[in-house]
Amino acid sequence: MLKKYTFSDVDSNLKTTSQIIKNSIQKKFTPFDFYFGDIKDLIPKDISVAIVDENGAILYKNNNKLKIKFSKEDLSKIFNYKLIYKDLNDYRIIINPYKFYGRINFLILGKNTKRLTELNRNIIFLFFIIMFFIAVLLIILTTDTINRILKSIQNITKVAEKVENNSLQYRIENRYNTKEIDELVKTLNNMLDRIEDGFLKVKQFTSDVSHELKTPISSIKNMLEVELLETRTAKEYKEVIIKTLEQINWLSNIVNDLLLMTRIESGKESLNIEKFNLSNVIIELIELMEGIAEEKEVTILFEGEKNIFIEADNNKLKRVILNMMSNGIKYNKKNGELKIEIKELENNIEIIFGDTGIGMKKENLNKIFERFYREDKVRTIRKSGTGLGLSIVKFIIEKHKGKIEVESIEGFGSKFRIILPKNYN
Ligand code: ADP
Repeated sequence: MLKKYTFSDVDSNLKTTSQIIKNSIQKKFTPFDFYFGDIKDLIPKDISVAIVDENGAILYKNNNKLKIKFSKEDLSKIFNYKLIYKDLNDYRIIINPYKFYGRINFLILGKNTKRLTELNRNIIFLFFIIMFFIAVLLIILTTDTINRILKSIQNITKVAEKVENNSLQYRIENRYNTKEIDELVKTLNNMLDRIEDGFLKVKQFTSDVSHELKTPISSIKNMLEVELLETRTAKEYKEVIIKTLEQINWLSNIVNDLLLMTRIESGKESLNIEKFNLSNVIIELIELMEGIAEEKEVTILFEGEKNIFIEADNNKLKRVILNMMSNGIKYNKKNGELKIEIKELENNIEIIFGDTGIGMKKENLNKIFERFYREDKVRTIRKSGTGLGLSIVKFIIEKHKGKIEVESIEGFGSKFRIILPKNYN
């Protein structure tokens, strides 16, 4: 390509010069002019010229080096007045046939291209040297990168081999790696973090559940063992049965709450979304809970519009509202108040449960949504809950893409604010 590119200039130069000489010969000379010396002025210094007639006789030449052996193909081209380009030793040659008084003559023009060829050769040589160094550099660079990638893959494999469910603390080191591998390592480490976290939660959950179940079971066991030591009256047996039943109810509540929670968490319990009148649901549930509230001498108040609609899972929201009301009554004081407000905002609906109860310590507010968490002071309250209620509430609300917030002053009361999107999508 380089040769073609550099020689195209030479070729066009030869062609133009040959045309000029040809035109001049055809105009100025006759077959009787045996001396073509006058064309000298038309010939550039670096070009050699020969004029040959159709018998091969040389009519003019200014250089002895233009001795060409013509092939059959060349001759046929000459007789058809076609231009011929050739390379002869260090010369680039053009043969330009033309008509001269009914006969064919032809011009041979040659230009020494030795320097040009050498220049080309040097350029090509330089090009190969540069290419060689680039290739060497590429090999060095890619070998290093490939080595680093292979090393990090080895590293990842080693860690993956070590990780088991009881040794989840291992992490892949970030050193020596490329950007992409770093990202992969980071993703894998994050994944290991999540798996470890998940395992810890499961362990914690199992231990919490065992602990919560252990207390009522051992209480039943002790009670029955003590009662069996002596013969009792029917009244005494009845009392034992009542106490046992209370503990069994407690156990059954825990199991039901746990079942609901795991079903929601595992995705088995999907949301059954429908549009319904939330104000009506709240009013109905207030009527349902009024008996229990009266027992505890707590008044339930309702504030809000009567026809506020929401798109949500009706049963699950009932569970949330019942839970919140039950807490508001349970942790209230004698002659206390539980006020339930419902507000319709632009895109959301707000339900507020405000009570004048025992309140909570500020430092415990972020713990109350954890499973089995109960403030120490409520553990003594008879019929306090399982500690699962608020975690179920939070879970259901988050499934509805909503949120729950709490404010509380110990000794004065608490306010829970639930915000739910009006439309579920
Ligand atoms: P529980 O079944 O014990 O009621 P929850 O998950 O519903 O479990 O509540 C967790 C803890 O948060 C309760 O044990 C109690 O200490 C505290 N709590 C919840 N609601 C109230 C409230 N309205 N007033 C005071 N304390 C509350």
